[in-house]
Amino acid sequence: MNENIDDDIQFVKGVGPKRADILKEHGISTVRDLLFFVPRRYLDRTKITPISELNPVSDVTVMATVESYGTKYGRGGRKFYIVNVTDNTSTLELIWYQNIKFIEGLFEEGDVLYISGKTSKLVYPQIAHPEFEFVSDREEPLHSMGLIPLYPTTAELKKIYLDSRGFRRIQRTALEKYINCIEEDLNAEIAEQNDLVPVAEALTNIHFPKTEEQLESSRKRLAFSELFYIELLLAMRRTKVELKTKLLAFNKPGDLVRRFGTKLPFKLTSSQRKVVTEIYTDMASKRPMRRLLQGDVGSGKTVVAALACALAIENGYKAAVMVPTEVLAEQHFINFRRMFAPVGTEILLLTAGAKEKSSIYERLTNDAPCLIIGTHALIQEKVNIHKFGLAIIDEQHRFGVRQRTDLLSGNGSVDLLLMTATPIPRTLAITIYGDFDYSVIDEFPPGRKLIETVLVDEGNERQVFEEILQQCKAGQQVYVVYPLVETSEKLDLQAAVDAYQKLKNGPIGKFGIGLLHGRMSTSEKEKVLSEFNSGRTKTLISTTVIEVGIDSPQATLMVVVGAERYGLSQLHQLRGRVGRGNKQSKCILKLTGNLTDEGRRRIEAMLATDDGFAIAEFDLQIRGPGEFFGTRQHGFPEFKFANITTDMHLLIQAREAAFSLIKNDPDLIHIENNHIRKHLLKHYSAALKFADAG
Ligand code: ADP
Ligand code: MG
Repeated sequence: MNENIDDDIQFVKGVGPKRADILKEHGISTVRDLLFFVPRRYLDRTKITPISELNPVSDVTVMATVESYGTKYGRGGRKFYIVNVTDNTSTLELIWYQNIKFIEGLFEEGDVLYISGKTSKLVYPQIAHPEFEFVSDREEPLHSMGLIPLYPTTAELKKIYLDSRGFRRIQRTALEKYINCIEEDLNAEIAEQNDLVPVAEALTNIHFPKTEEQLESSRKRLAFSELFYIELLLAMRRTKVELKTKLLAFNKPGDLVRRFGTKLPFKLTSSQRKVVTEIYTDMASKRPMRRLLQGDVGSGKTVVAALACALAIENGYKAAVMVPTEVLAEQHFINFRRMFAPVGTEILLLTAGAKEKSSIYERLTNDAPCLIIGTHALIQEKVNIHKFGLAIIDEQHRFGVRQRTDLLSGNGSVDLLLMTATPIPRTLAITIYGDFDYSVIDEFPPGRKLIETVLVDEGNERQVFEEILQQCKAGQQVYVVYPLVETSEKLDLQAAVDAYQKLKNGPIGKFGIGLLHGRMSTSEKEKVLSEFNSGRTKTLISTTVIEVGIDSPQATLMVVVGAERYGLSQLHQLRGRVGRGNKQSKCILKLTGNLTDEGRRRIEAMLATDDGFAIAEFDLQIRGPGEFFGTRQHGFPEFKFANITTDMHLLIQAREAAFSLIKNDPDLIHIENNHIRKHLLKHYSAALKFADAG
C-alpha cells in the first residue's frame, strides 16, 4: 500500500476508531497533524547515574539488572510490589502501591532495565512508581532514557491512554511508517547555504532527540521553514508592487512645497529631513511607494505626513490621511488647515458623524487636487477618490491589514505611507512589514526633556491633587485619564464624570477644567478640545479617547488613573501626551486596584524607561508575539517552532533566502523550486490570496 502523509490518522498502528475520533476532536486528523503535534517540553534523562550516587528527590535515570521481585504485605494487609535491581555500585528498590496487577509477572531475574523517576532514600534508595523499560538491542528506549518528549495532552486524551507515554508510542510508529512521505519544503541550495538538515530528519529529532544540540538544531530547521514561507509571501507581494507602474511619477518638489516649508513655525530635525527625502524619492519613482514610518510618540511624524501631502497636491493629485479615531481626525484637520493655510490647499474632513457627506463624496470624484482627512469613514464603499495619488495611514497599528489595502480601493499604484507611534521591535517589523521600506525618526525635536514617571499607590489622592494644582498655578496644563473598557463602560465613564464634578468645584476647577469622552457629540468634543488647545482650560479629564492625537505643548502633567488596567504600549502612548514642549514634564501612574504579576512588570517597564523601542521590546516579552499584535487582526502567524523574540538571526537568514529566491524565480517555475511551489500552494493558499491584495 502507498503511504501518504495526509492519510487518515486511523492508518497509524495503535490508533483505532475510538482514538481516531477523539484525536480528531483535538485537531489531529491526519498523519501530518500527528507528526506536527510536537512535544511541549522534554525531560532530561540523558545521563545514567550510578545507584551509589543517587540523590533523593531528583529525577534520575539508572540502568540496572533485576535481582529479585515479589508481592509484599504491609500493615493492615496493604499489598505492594517490590523489585530489587542492582548495578555495579549498589542496590535500588522499586516499589508499586497501585496497578500491581499490571506489574506482576513482568520481570525476570537478570532483566536489564532503564529506570527513571524521583528517588527517595529511607534506608536504601527507592523509587516509587518508576518509569521503566527493558533494555533491548532492537529498539531505542522511549520513556526512560534520553531526552523524553512530553506532549500537551488533555483529560479526554488521557482516558484513552494518550498521555505522553501513549503519544510516544504512536509517534514512533507513525514516524517509522511515514517518515519518507514527508515532503521536503526547501531546495538543496537553501538547505546547504543555511546548513539545514532535511525536514524529515528534523521532525524525527523533534520527537526523539538524542542530545540538546540535536533538538535545538532540529527546532531551528523547522523554524526556518516557518519564517521562510512568511518571507516568501512578503517577497512575492513586494514584487507585485514593483511590477506596477504608477500613472505618474511625481515631479520634484517645487514652489508649493517650498512655500509650505518656509511657513512652518520650526526647523525640521535632521531625522525628519532624512525621512522626507526618502519619501520624496519614493514618490518621484515609477514604482508605487510602500513605506512604513516609525517614530516614537512626539517625534514629529505629522509634519512629515503633511510634507508628503504637499508634494502630491503640488503635482495635481489628491492625498488622503486616515486615522483611527474621530478625535485624532479633528486634531489633524485643525493642524493641517493651519499648516496649509499659507498655500491655500482645500482640506476636507470625513468622519462617520460628518454632515454633508454626499457633497464630500461628490468633491472627491472631481479631478482638482485636495487633501482629505478622515476615519474609517474613508474606506466606505461610497468613497471614490479620483486622481488619488497618496494615501497615509496614521497610527496604522490600530488598523487591520485589510483596512490598509481598502484605503487604496484596488488602486495598487497609489503611493502608501504607514505611520506608527507604537514602535515595532525590529524582529516583528521584518516579519509583518517585510515588504515595506522603513523610515525611522530617531530623534526628538530640540529641547525635549525626559519625562519623569512616578507611581502613586491606591488611596493617595492627596498627593495627586497637590501636583495638579501646582501645575495649574504655574500656568501649565494637565491631563487626567480614566480607563474605559467595554465590559465596564458605564462604571468607567461614571468615574471620569465624578472626578470632573469633584475637581470642578474645588481649587483646581478655578483654573478651568474640561471633560472629554467618546459619548459626547462631535461638536461638544470640538468645543472642549478648542478650549483646552487655547489654554482656557488647564485640566482635561478624559477617558482613553485622548490616547492618540492630542497635542498641547503646554501640557506638563499626565495622570493615568487605574494604571494597572492599561496595556504597556497604551501607557506609553498616554505618557507621550506630555513633554511636548521644552518644560520638564511628569507622568503619574495612579493605582486603583491590585497589581497582577504582569501588571507589575508593565509598571516596572514604564518606570525604567521612556524609550519607545525599549518599551515595545518589554511589551513583546511580557505578552508574546500573538498578543502583542493581536494575531487575527494583523495576519500575524502563530509559529510552532520559531520564536520571534529570540530567532532574529534565523529570521534574517530566512528573509535573505526568500527574497533572493523570488528575485531569481518570481513565479517559482524553475524545476529545483518545484516543491517549494507545491508546499506554498498547499499550505499557504489563503495567505497567497492576501499577497495579491497589496
Ligand atoms: P507624533 O510623531 O507623535 O505624531 P507630532 O507630529 O504630533 O508627533 O509632533 C509632536 C509635537 O512636536 C508637535 O507639537 C509638533 O508641532 C512638534 N514638532 C514637530 N517637529 C518639530 C520640530 N522639528 N521642531 C520643533 N517642534 C516640532
Ligand atoms: Mg501622531
